[in-house]
Amino acid sequence: MPRVIIVGGGLAGPCLAHGLRGAGFEVALHERDEGLSRGQGYRIHIDPVGTRALYECLPPHLYSMAIDTSCVAGTSVTMLSGSLDVVNRFVVNPDPGAPVTPDSDISVDRLTLRQILLAELGDAVRFGSEFTRFDLLPDGRVRAHFAGGASEDADILVAADGPSSRVRRQLLPDASVVRTGTWAVFGKTPLTPDAEAITPPAALDGFSAVIAPDGRFMPLAGHRFRKDPNSLASGLDFPDTRDYLMWVLAIQEDLSGLGPAALLDAVEDRISDWHPDLRRLVRLSDPETVRVTPLRTAEPVDPWPSGPVTFVGDAIHCMIPAGSGAGVALRDAGLLSTELGAALRDGSPLVEAIARYERQMLIYGFEAVAASLRPRF
Ligand SMILES: Cc1cc2nc3c(=O)[nH]c(=O)nc-3n(C[C@H](O)[C@H](O)[C@H](O)COP(=O)(O)OP(=O)(O)OC[C@H]3O[C@@H](n4cnc5c(N)ncnc54)[C@H](O)[C@@H]3O)c2cc1C
Repeated sequence: MPRVIIVGGGLAGPCLAHGLRGAGFEVALHERDEGLSRGQGYRIHIDPVGTRALYECLPPHLYSMAIDTSCVAGTSVTMLSGSLDVVNRFVVNPDPGAPVTPDSDISVDRLTLRQILLAELGDAVRFGSEFTRFDLLPDGRVRAHFAGGASEDADILVAADGPSSRVRRQLLPDASVVRTGTWAVFGKTPLTPDAEAITPPAALDGFSAVIAPDGRFMPLAGHRFRKDPNSLASGLDFPDTRDYLMWVLAIQEDLSGLGPAALLDAVEDRISDWHPDLRRLVRLSDPETVRVTPLRTAEPVDPWPSGPVTFVGDAIHCMIPAGSGAGVALRDAGLLSTELGAALRDGSPLVEAIARYERQMLIYGFEAVAASLRPRF
């Protein structure tokens, strides 16, 4: 049975692990974190290519769990002024009660989805295992090295290690990921009755964002679980299943040295002239969820000679948040599983399957990067 090492247990890595296991591969997934981090707990939109990849890669009961724990659908994308007046509203989903299909847009709680994705991979998942470098072996296989001195051999190494990918830096040292000069400060405010009473209705009916003429931009989106994840008799213990409002403030200043309390002060300061309810909502955040991250974007990469090392997701085509990075990352996982599975079935060389995958992925992946940079509002 061919063996695949996946580096990274974010979204694309575990989805790929399921897809490849289903296709007949032995998989080992190495994640540098010691476990699931609450900092990855915000709401993300997944577009239909991502939903379909989840459907194709996951065992049916895990796919159902992902859908059951997704967000109750809303109808609109709404732009708000700092005083919370509706500036513009687009109905994007006239039938929010329609059943979710594998071709639906969904919004999910990222931490909940990761917990589901990693649930049944058993000892294929190695937490606390940080990839450091790889060697290409004379027999066409690959050796991966990990912090602490461990190493493992495999037929294929897949980098799912996100925007700072060490695999990319080794295999494609000229492929660059650039900082945009914008940072996102984000957090979750539990939707207690007090918080809900002051939440703009538009934020609970889809996606909304406060946009100021000076460029300040603050997305707001409620997450209400369709079903309480802990009610699903899954055997999993989900740590925080409260409904919440996710808020994000885009800023042009590096605040990455600040802890949650100072970040909350900084956000409040920057929106001090906006509606007081926005400041109250920020103040009601769960401090453990407040983080800041630089927004980065990958520059187009020319095709390289395919081999036993390849990439999925942000490791190759990271993009600024525009509602599609996760969907494209999951699409990569689905497509790579399909191509490798077909090669395994018909006995053709795995590296040809990787080449077919890379040809397609580089086109749609970097089209998505370009789209993320186009102004949308
Ligand atoms: C604030 C914000 C909001 C976003 N909102 C959306 C949205 O609404 N919709 C959307 O589609 N996208 C969104 N995105 C983008 C989306 O999060 C990414 O595109 C997606 O997470 C990519 O998944 P991935 O698995 O490729 O990488 P990641 O999710 O980044 O996972 C990489 C994993 O690799 C691990 N890792 C890294 N280095 C190593 C190593 N050396 N050894 C072992 N493990 C390693 C990391 O710990 C991590 O777990 C958003 C991004 C941000 C920052």
